[in-house]
Amino acid sequence: MALDNGNHPGTSLLTASRHEALAAASKSRYQQNGSSGAQRVDGFYAADVFNERVMRQRLPKDVFRRLMETIHLGKPLRAEIADVVAAAMKEWAIENGATHYTHWFMPLTGLTAEKHDSLTIPDGKGGTLSEFGGSALVSGEPDASSFPSGGLRATFEARGYTAWDPTSPAFLTRSDGTVTLCIPTAFVSWTGEALDKKTPLLRSMDAISHQAMRVLKLFGTDAGVSRVITTLGPEQEYFLVDRSLYFARPDLLLCERTLFGARPPKGQQLEDHYFGSISATVLAFMADVERELYRMGVPVKTRHNEVAPGQYEIAPVFETTNIACDHQMLVMETLKRVAPRHGLQALLHEKPFAGVNGSGKHNNWSLSTDTGVNLLDPREEAHTNMQFLVFLCAVIRAVDLHADLLRASIASASNDHRLGANEAPPAIISIFLGDMLTDIIDQLETGRTRRTIKGGALDLGARTLPQIPRDSGDRNRTSPFAFTGNKFEFRAVGSTQSSAWPNTVLNTIIAESLDFIATRLEKAVGARPTEAKLQNAVRSLLKEIVRRHKRVIFNGDGYSEKWHAEAAKRGLPNLKDTVEALPVLRTKKAVDLFKRYKVLSKAELESRADVFVEKFVKQVTIEAETMISMVRTMILPAALKHQTRLAQAVSAAADAGVSSPSQREMLEQFVDLVDDLREKTAALEEVTAHHDADPLRHARHIKTAVRPAMAAVRAVADELETQVASDLWPMPTYRDLLFIKG
Ligand code: ADP
Ligand code: MG
Repeated sequence: MALDNGNHPGTSLLTASRHEALAAASKSRYQQNGSSGAQRVDGFYAADVFNERVMRQRLPKDVFRRLMETIHLGKPLRAEIADVVAAAMKEWAIENGATHYTHWFMPLTGLTAEKHDSLTIPDGKGGTLSEFGGSALVSGEPDASSFPSGGLRATFEARGYTAWDPTSPAFLTRSDGTVTLCIPTAFVSWTGEALDKKTPLLRSMDAISHQAMRVLKLFGTDAGVSRVITTLGPEQEYFLVDRSLYFARPDLLLCERTLFGARPPKGQQLEDHYFGSISATVLAFMADVERELYRMGVPVKTRHNEVAPGQYEIAPVFETTNIACDHQMLVMETLKRVAPRHGLQALLHEKPFAGVNGSGKHNNWSLSTDTGVNLLDPREEAHTNMQFLVFLCAVIRAVDLHADLLRASIASASNDHRLGANEAPPAIISIFLGDMLTDIIDQLETGRTRRTIKGGALDLGARTLPQIPRDSGDRNRTSPFAFTGNKFEFRAVGSTQSSAWPNTVLNTIIAESLDFIATRLEKAVGARPTEAKLQNAVRSLLKEIVRRHKRVIFNGDGYSEKWHAEAAKRGLPNLKDTVEALPVLRTKKAVDLFKRYKVLSKAELESRADVFVEKFVKQVTIEAETMISMVRTMILPAALKHQTRLAQAVSAAADAGVSSPSQREMLEQFVDLVDDLREKTAALEEVTAHHDADPLRHARHIKTAVRPAMAAVRAVADELETQVASDLWPMPTYRDLLFIKG
């Protein structure tokens, strides 16, 4: 089969043999190396963001001040103000080459959505007309009928509204010379129900702010503070594969993961890739990605190789959670968009390759006042130290009480391959605190402040509560939820996931704990609080919390069998997969929690549960169908060709008067294997065809019947891969995919 002219390497390779794909790969690499290299230009930092600096320059003083009050203090925005802001935004966008604008939002698909309208149109008299004013800035009405709503909105009632989120700066996207003004928005139905991931996130941030402020008031540390915000620094792991090879793998193309692939002799066992030097092609790609992200104001900072061959990480400096979530979506989109320019394909899937490390999105989370004080940063002074311990214990309590909900917040078909698979955090949610903090927590429980000096850092002398070293330096990669000095790192989040939902859950469960703590302390100290009263009240409350919830603390090896047994003994939930985890969203406990903090109504929560289950069913069904078609149209034909070769060799030998029982046996075994593949594939086809009107029942069927049938097909196909002649194997192998990259 002929290769195309190389402009789009690989697009004609869908049925090419492995060797043709490899040839195209080296060709495209050659072309890329000749022409690539990101050009750094001066002044690209945040050049495409309508941020505070630009607004200050372009808005009248009082308009700017009022807008800042909306952004920072949550004050409502008046229509006249919106008109002025819209005019300035439009002028700025057009000056920068924009022709269109879009309300940019995060529907429940987990992706972002946009519908473009032009900023100016010809007026028919030789001039231009613009309809972009305050009302177009503040709200839009995209046809929402095709977005999943989980039954919240019947398709015939297609109206959905987008509402400007002024706290997340508008930005420009550039694609082949087309510049578009993107306005971050929330997306709600005509009844006001949230149809997106951002609305509940913003509500959860309000909830936690309100409760955290009560705690600060008790400690008298609220002076000058008007809000407590949550911060997020998401680290994104991803794989890069050669784009031509990607096109030769229908499974990567359709499912973003390999459904077949025998393990190569060299995987990650040498651990020579982690933090290794970055190849020229990959570095050029990363620099290009960073340049684009900087233009849009995304503060990416770190880049390095990850554990598996072909795996990388990109991490930003943390920001306010809703902005960080928007930026996280831009990071994922930019990785995908830029890779083809470098002859690469970015795979964000949690588990593109079996037997090789998967990808996560480490969710670094903290709480901070709007004056910049990190509330999870231990301080020198005993007083604020006590406040730190209150926030710490609030997190411990929340994670223990709602471990099931946290687990559900990261459940997906793709993350199932990672969690609990002995190389990623287990599906059991526990907290890593490190020895030092655990020791302090123990002391809170016994009420005795021992003088435990570790590394000379603890001073428990005359103080009523222990001194805590600012950086204990402990690390534990096996924990799903780790305290890392001044923040928590939720490591079980999946790499393809939007950060918005797990953070919505985190904020809400911790808001509930802060509410519980504030209520108890307010009662204990009464109308005339004194320092002594507060200390006593805090001490006895924290003691109670630690007693009740310390079972969730675990500093050991989360990957070990022993931990699974120990966790079961402690009564910690172990929701092994999506099908076990998602029903948590339907429990009364979950419904009450979200309702109480006005984050999600019962209907809104149910709609999410529906959407997630449906997505699970669809995703695995697509995988199963892709698998069947790859067996039938690629693997079986190649295996039969190989079988013919073997048979011809055996009969040629017999014709020549040589009888080889061993070769005959090889042929017989091979034929058996091919028969086995046919049978297993037929079995998979049968279970995949099963349909159930009830999505959760269908999901259970997928778990108990479809996934095992897929595993059975794969086992035989992977065995065949090790036997079929390499020139006949119809697709690039793991070795090709993992090690060929510029
Ligand atoms: P690691 O060793 O886990 O890679 P880093 O220090 O590089 O740790 O930080 C990882 C991420 O944590 C970065 O995105 C960083 O901005 C973020 N981070 C640091 N402090 C905070 C905080 N207070 N709140 C949220 N995220 C934070
Ligand atoms: Mg980290």
